[in-house]
Amino acid sequence: MPAWAELLEKQPVAVRMLQNSIEKSRIAHAYLFHGPRGTGKREASLLFAMRYFCKEETESSEPCKNCSACKRIYSGNHPDVHFIQPDGQSIKKEQIEFLQKEFTYTGLESNQKVYIIEEADKMTGNASNRLLKFLEEPNQQTVAILLTENSSAMINTILSRCQRIQFHSLNEQEQYNRLLQEGIPDSTAHIFTALQLDLGQAMEWKDDPWFAEARKIVLQLVDKVLDSKEEGYLFLHQVWLRQFEGRDQIELGLELLLIWYKDIISYHLDRKDRVILIDQLDRLETYMYRLSIQEAKASIYEILQTKRRLASNVHNTLAMEHLVLQLQR
Ligand SMILES: [Zn+2]
Repeated sequence: MPAWAELLEKQPVAVRMLQNSIEKSRIAHAYLFHGPRGTGKREASLLFAMRYFCKEETESSEPCKNCSACKRIYSGNHPDVHFIQPDGQSIKKEQIEFLQKEFTYTGLESNQKVYIIEEADKMTGNASNRLLKFLEEPNQQTVAILLTENSSAMINTILSRCQRIQFHSLNEQEQYNRLLQEGIPDSTAHIFTALQLDLGQAMEWKDDPWFAEARKIVLQLVDKVLDSKEEGYLFLHQVWLRQFEGRDQIELGLELLLIWYKDIISYHLDRKDRVILIDQLDRLETYMYRLSIQEAKASIYEILQTKRRLASNVHNTLAMEHLVLQLQR
């Protein structure tokens, strides 16, 4: 079970802000927890909800984790704590409407309610507008917690109604050491650290054949766009788009691609200590002669642009086609 004390080491600013608002009973109607993957946003939202409903009388901001409320929240079974996650690619209007309907009934255990919207940036326009109405008429005892890795994709009218709490990426060395301790091989631990995976996800992916294949395909794409001017496009359609299907997978593919181009730059700058793909040093050496530092930087810019386009809902295939054309230049 998570604990504030544990999270405090990783996210001192965020945790102190939240503890403060709990201890001083100055709880906002809506919070936005934003920051990269694996930084403890979900744990913090659970702890917050547990403390809000904990039956133990205490001055402290730490929930007891033993009472029925704490236990039910932790296992996702508390009637007044609702979780919303994307249904497929997005969070739909109906999901927000369902939540509102639930809230019109009086609380089963109390009048307090907490709802936690995970990946809140994936709300459709209609869902966002629906939520906005909900936020505009706050009930005194209802707390909304929105979690996102990508707050720039959310509408301003929602952002302005939330108290924003930033979660910073973990100290990389710390995270890398933790992965090694869990028996993840060195070369993989470097990649997982760069991807900012949390421990659970890292353990899941370490033996996942899909992820091994994804790594290979990313490398092949770099080869194709550097080798010949036409093959990249073909490879994109015949291999890449079949491997990376949903939005999350495509984003992962782009993250892996970014790692390659950043590594080429590290190599150029003679900073081999910064290289992430440590089992690919020979290949990076040959890439260095084929791609100047300016070209590598331009490629990184294009990959970041593609991420932005995807976040603003440009079609996956279109965005990737555009990227491959740019990388081939
Ligand atoms: Zn409790």
